[in-house]
Amino acid sequence: MKIKFLGTGAAEGWPALFCECAACKKAEELGGKNIRTRSSCLIDDIYMIDFPPDTYMHRLVYNIDLSKLKHVIITHSHSDHFYAYDFEMRLEGYAHVENDTGLAVYGNEKVKALFDYALGHLDMEGIVDYNLIHAFNTFQVEDALVTPLPADHAKGENCYIYVIQIGNSTLLYGHDSGYFPEESWEKLVDYKFDGVILDCTFGPEDCRTGHMGLPANVDIKDRLIGAGAAHEDTKFIVTHFSHNMKLMHEEMEELAKSHGFITAYDGLEIEI
Ligand SMILES: [Zn+2]
Ligand SMILES: [Zn+2]
Ligand SMILES: [Zn+2]
Repeated sequence: MKIKFLGTGAAEGWPALFCECAACKKAEELGGKNIRTRSSCLIDDIYMIDFPPDTYMHRLVYNIDLSKLKHVIITHSHSDHFYAYDFEMRLEGYAHVENDTGLAVYGNEKVKALFDYALGHLDMEGIVDYNLIHAFNTFQVEDALVTPLPADHAKGENCYIYVIQIGNSTLLYGHDSGYFPEESWEKLVDYKFDGVILDCTFGPEDCRTGHMGLPANVDIKDRLIGAGAAHEDTKFIVTHFSHNMKLMHEEMEELAKSHGFITAYDGLEIEI
């Protein structure tokens, strides 16, 4: 499984949209891996996890061909993870796609409500179709088996983390979330993960509810290894960083590395 991190920032981006804090100024000065756009990942070129408002910019920066994109799997409705209006640009006229087999979006009830609000007046059928999914119900998408599990994140909707199995590779896409709910742990220990991507919004700080910092990430890593759900070569990756955590990429990378984690940056490609 080939994973490309398109964005690795929290909702506000880094430098943040309207911010003048020291961490934003420093990131701007240093540039490179310190610039973090809103989060999403591309898997094997045809699956995308989350669809942030920076997707058009990602298409330009990475020169990716999104006409090849077939499936978009959404974690939750927050604006840094789901920007429904851009799906209109998939309609004929805005996009010319040869032998078009359409694009499928998967997500919870609240994401569906936003999808309907933004696109309900348009004839999207066969071009972009919405699929309502439920926790613990595994669904098949081409070669991928996808299992949504409850996250600890926003109130008022069913936020998901995802187990994604393609061929012999198994990935845990673990954000946005605080320390995982016990009902998710019951299922998580049944897998053997080759890659684990975790919410590290608060960097070195010990945050465990809604989002996480590295201490909670370390506890998840230890628990997965202790339960036999990870192996020696499992890649543990931290992402979704907020400017409020203040560490520049190299500082975060050094800290995370000392605990056996890879620190994601915009454009990072990893094979698991
Ligand atoms: Zn987020
Ligand atoms: Zn800032
Ligand atoms: Zn969120």
